[in-house]
Amino acid sequence: MKHLLSIEDLDRRAIERILDRAASFAEVSGREIKKVPTLRGRTVVNLFYESSTRTSSSFELAAKRLSADVVSVRSAGSSVDKGESLKDTVQTLSAYDPAAIVIRSPNVGAAELVARWSPASVVNAGDGKHEHPTQALLDVYTLRRRLGSLEGTNIWIVGDVLHSRVARSDVIAFKKMGARVTVCGPPTLIPRGVEALGCEVAVTLDRLGEAEVVYALRMQTERMTQAYVPSLREYVATYQIDGRRLHPRQLLMHPGPVNRGVELAGEVIDSPQALIGQQVEAGVVVRMAVLFELLAGGERDGERSREDVPGRERPEPQPA
Ligand code: ASP
Repeated sequence: MKHLLSIEDLDRRAIERILDRAASFAEVSGREIKKVPTLRGRTVVNLFYESSTRTSSSFELAAKRLSADVVSVRSAGSSVDKGESLKDTVQTLSAYDPAAIVIRSPNVGAAELVARWSPASVVNAGDGKHEHPTQALLDVYTLRRRLGSLEGTNIWIVGDVLHSRVARSDVIAFKKMGARVTVCGPPTLIPRGVEALGCEVAVTLDRLGEAEVVYALRMQTERMTQAYVPSLREYVATYQIDGRRLHPRQLLMHPGPVNRGVELAGEVIDSPQALIGQQVEAGVVVRMAVLFELLAGGERDGERSREDVPGRERPEPQPA
């Protein structure tokens, strides 16, 4: 496999292979010297055009733990600030002959474009409200560790589904792993046609008790161009996951950053049912496994062709 642009690029076996590899890297993370020489002498460029704490730091750590040379570029403080286009930036950075480019962008399809412009392997670290495949992988990893398997598990994804690339990638990944998925939120925050991904839709929390896993999403106000809910207070009253709504046997997940007191009440964030810290921990080993899969493993090992251009159908790039 050359790129990871969408979770659709992976079938169940490929997901399991990557997650098994991540589990073997968890052993490395337990050592005092947390490094393996796999990517020694190779360069990984992290290009972040949108705010990020967890994803950017874990990709950086993952590449360093594989002994790669890492260049991290953030839009603030780089020439992107001065109006340099994505294409020019990618061409400039290509002068360093990177083995991989990890890109986060507010624009749908940005990773796909970088894959066309650069001979490097490209990892989509979030493109607008489209996809966030490594988040989906680390979520499956976290659940597999806790439950053994996702087969038949009832998962509810609750909140601002409309603006969430995590929800989209997670529904696809959870379904591939055999889970039953329901997305829930105010009708204005449910994307039209989402059922085509194979999930159910609920607009109230009335049946939340059926869920074994409750996956809460952040209200992404930065992507909202209009008022999608009458007020945040009303949203909280109807959809917030709190100690009253979450049953002690249910597991709780959230991709972060959490808006404490909005989608989640403080008491559930800090409860033992919350896997939020484990999701962050999983981020490093899962991203190590993804870089390994693209750069050192899989059937394409050793053939980094400059002519390799993906020919699959992708959404055309557009503003988030
Ligand atoms: N960190 C996740 C993302 O980048 C979720 C969020 O921002 O709410 O999509």
